Amino acid sequence: MEEPLSDTEEYRNKIATVDDQGKRAWIYPKKPKGKFYDWRKYVSYVLLLFLFGMPFVKWNGDPILLFNILERRFIIFGLHFTPQDFHLFVFGMLIFIVFIILFTVVFGRLFCGWVCPQTIFMEMVFRRIEYWIEGDANAQKRLNKAPWTPEKLFKKVSKQALFFGVAVLIANTFLAYIIGVDQVIQIITEPIQEHWEGFVAMVIFAFAFYFVFAYMREQVCVTICPYGRLQGVLLDKNSIAVYYDFERGEPRGRMKKERPAKPSNHTPAATPTTKSACTTCNTESDCQKEVKEQTPALALASNLGDCIDCNLCVKVCPTGIDIRDGIQMECVNCTACMDACDEVMEKIDRPLGLIRYDSHEGIVAKRKQIFTTRVKAYSAVLFLLLSVQIYLLATRSSVETLLLRTTGMLFQETEEGNIRNLYNYQIMNKTKTPLNIEFRLLDHTGTITVVGNEPIARPEQLTSGSLFIEIPPEALRGQKNDLKIGVYANQELIESLGTNFLGPVK
Ligand code: SF4
Ligand code: SF4
Repeated sequence: MEEPLSDTEEYRNKIATVDDQGKRAWIYPKKPKGKFYDWRKYVSYVLLLFLFGMPFVKWNGDPILLFNILERRFIIFGLHFTPQDFHLFVFGMLIFIVFIILFTVVFGRLFCGWVCPQTIFMEMVFRRIEYWIEGDANAQKRLNKAPWTPEKLFKKVSKQALFFGVAVLIANTFLAYIIGVDQVIQIITEPIQEHWEGFVAMVIFAFAFYFVFAYMREQVCVTICPYGRLQGVLLDKNSIAVYYDFERGEPRGRMKKERPAKPSNHTPAATPTTKSACTTCNTESDCQKEVKEQTPALALASNLGDCIDCNLCVKVCPTGIDIRDGIQMECVNCTACMDACDEVMEKIDRPLGLIRYDSHEGIVAKRKQIFTTRVKAYSAVLFLLLSVQIYLLATRSSVETLLLRTTGMLFQETEEGNIRNLYNYQIMNKTKTPLNIEFRLLDHTGTITVVGNEPIARPEQLTSGSLFIEIPPEALRGQKNDLKIGVYANQELIESLGTNFLGPVK
């Protein structure tokens, strides 16, 4: 039989976003405010500027970021990549995964709270539109329960219209990263029938973003995002995350009113709430002082920790969790609870940071250790992968040639008695200028004859064709011969290729 959960683990039995009937419980987070929220706002402004501005930034007429999967053209900070650079992509992905693992082991879900586009758009764009139109959490709840009036209709329609407008903007921006901003402008400004596919893509993207931010919201982070699911295996007791300091906060309890036992010369007729109620004071200011001194003050009982159980940290949480239950997969490290709790601590005159960035070790043992063995091992792997990637990038040529002997063909003997082999070539020109290509034998006497015209490698395209290599028999060693072929672009040697040549048995 399953062990019943202890009181403190009861939260594991339910999800904040699902009610007792198993239906979606809509989260109404209270509007956050505080220094972390302000910093996150500034970071989000920079990131949003980058995201929306980048498609317009060009270098030599090309966008500096382009991920055109349809035409297999990729530009990353001005560097052009083609499908021939697939190995660089694989290494790039490996580096990205190891970096994410390393970053998460050290800093937990910091990325989610500060950089993730889902959180930035949700909390810094859509949620702020909602607060602006419908007010804070309680006002939103009241509005949703209220009967339909012209005011409610106006608020709801304008909110959804703005949501959809922003979704269209995001959709167009994402499309600009795929097909380029010029093409997006063409789709918008020219008749729809000339750009059916582009228009349909725009509409699908716009509705997808609208659905995510108007309806799915925190569900993306708590149920769909694979990164969120990885937290359980990546975090350890030294990982930095948003933590509630249970050592300091527990046992939690509400503040009690207590009257200070202060001797007074005054003789108020009753509890002195106004000047007229006091029979002793002569001046208004004296009386007010007396009123203040005798007003019951809120104080924490001496056996309680710093948490006054005000629940503010839960009310501001966009995923609806209680961080005091411990670190949870649903926590996107948005810092809203840190700000809320700091505000409370300030009011009750306690040190800030009852909820803060810390590690489990930092709270229990008061010791922060970032460079653990695990972190060192991941760092070493990351360093290794980065070194390989830098080497591959540094030695990457702007023209790549593939030369293969035509399969199924043996050698031929020419009328002059020379031996001839047929080859197929492919030239990938990653530059933006056409190149006159020439093949030359580097270590054998003989000739190379291209079938048809001398190849011109078209910019950013693959050019293919065939060629014959002809070598006098005395220059051959036997049946199998290694050859070195030079590839010249505009008379300049750009690559030397190795291939083999079939000859008669000697
Ligand atoms: S906001 Fe701070 S004081 Fe209030 S319940 Fe949360 S942890 Fe306790
Ligand atoms: S517990 Fe909630 S409010 Fe606090 S950081 Fe995590 S997601 Fe944000």
